[in-house]
Amino acid sequence: MWNESIEQKINSVTCPGCGLSCDDLSITFAGEQLLSLENGCEKARSFYETALKSSDPTPIVDGSPASLDQALASCTTRLAQSNSPLFAGLATDVNGMRGILELGDLCGATLDHLNGDAMFRNLRVLQDNGWFTTTFSEVRNRADLVVLIGKQWFDGFPRLVERVLNPQDALFVEAGQRKIVLLGPWSPDSLPEDLASINPLLIPMENESIPDAIALLRSLIADKPVPPTRLGEQTGELLIGLASQLQQANYSVISWSAAEFDVPHAELSILGFVELAKTLNEKCRSAALPLAGTLADITSNQVTTWQLGYPLRTRLQRGYPEHDPILNRWQGLIARGESDLLLWTSSLSPLTPPPDSEIPTIVLGHPGMSFKTPPSVYIPVGIPGIDHHGHWYRSDAVCPLPLSKLRRSKLPSVADIANLLSRQLLTASGVSERGVRC
Ligand code: SF4
Repeated sequence: MWNESIEQKINSVTCPGCGLSCDDLSITFAGEQLLSLENGCEKARSFYETALKSSDPTPIVDGSPASLDQALASCTTRLAQSNSPLFAGLATDVNGMRGILELGDLCGATLDHLNGDAMFRNLRVLQDNGWFTTTFSEVRNRADLVVLIGKQWFDGFPRLVERVLNPQDALFVEAGQRKIVLLGPWSPDSLPEDLASINPLLIPMENESIPDAIALLRSLIADKPVPPTRLGEQTGELLIGLASQLQQANYSVISWSAAEFDVPHAELSILGFVELAKTLNEKCRSAALPLAGTLADITSNQVTTWQLGYPLRTRLQRGYPEHDPILNRWQGLIARGESDLLLWTSSLSPLTPPPDSEIPTIVLGHPGMSFKTPPSVYIPVGIPGIDHHGHWYRSDAVCPLPLSKLRRSKLPSVADIANLLSRQLLTASGVSERGVRC
């Protein structure tokens, strides 16, 4: 018999707290209490504390508690009646996303991730121009110069310094030999201790000036006649120095988090970062490292791409995939009234409920989620890496990492619910075999 109150310690746990996916955590807990966390950061601590306290499996239908069968029946009816469902959120593991795609295929849904805006700032560049990216392992073991653009990556990926930029041991770079450059809204007086300890070169500027600085760098590297002091004497000198360091480096890396650049046409700024690495790559080695993966955006896009041949922001309504990174943006579909049902999947965080909208909403959500306006149906689902085993992709998208099951749970996984709904829809429509639309 499983005794929930007994203290348990689990080692080598992969953390789904951010796209870094650290796989060296040791967790000790008893029931709902997190007793200790080794190697995890504060973000991981908050993820596990919240997750362990969230375990109520009771679905809600039209504002009242219901059984799972009642909730599934209500979802099946709504999905069967919908002409244009929107499947958004999509914060789930590989199996959850497979199930969602199968269900979306049956219903003719349009698919987008809750981080779609940030994700497509990068993907538009990849789609239109191509890029040359690297992995965390390559950066950790080989990069001798890393330029980090912007500032939010530090909070968004809290162990990047410890695990990638300044690890205790790396294969081909001596400890402390890697040069780190911070280009963004940093101030020397308020540099976090972690960062100050690796003695980075600071090129302080507001985010609005970054595209100009990158353009200037590219021109300097290409030996074009540019006025380097256009951004000020001091910044100009720092950029001249950086251009020279980039040309001398054996393996430089340009890194950013697209979530930070929430401005119109941010993809043009990101194109500049990618082109900088491409230009350098003509004479020495250089690569881009976009930081992403939080809330499973990379995971859901990977699965969608290998299943459909297209990334997210794809519509399955006409029996074949139609990808449009602008028209199939979930916020736009809701605002324009082009969807008559929203299926919102968000199993990793209670802080990502569906948007307030007029359209009926089904939520497959984190068990700790609360709502300003109760959705039509809420089915609490298991948290990948807590309530069930699974896989997900970290930021560099190179391989799926295993997520463990930490506790006995009554919460069904997203995959369980999506597969049950697919079966019920097929039964309700009288189809005995799976009628796949595309
Ligand atoms: S850095 Fe990210 S993956 Fe690593 S422990 Fe912290 S939240 Fe988890």
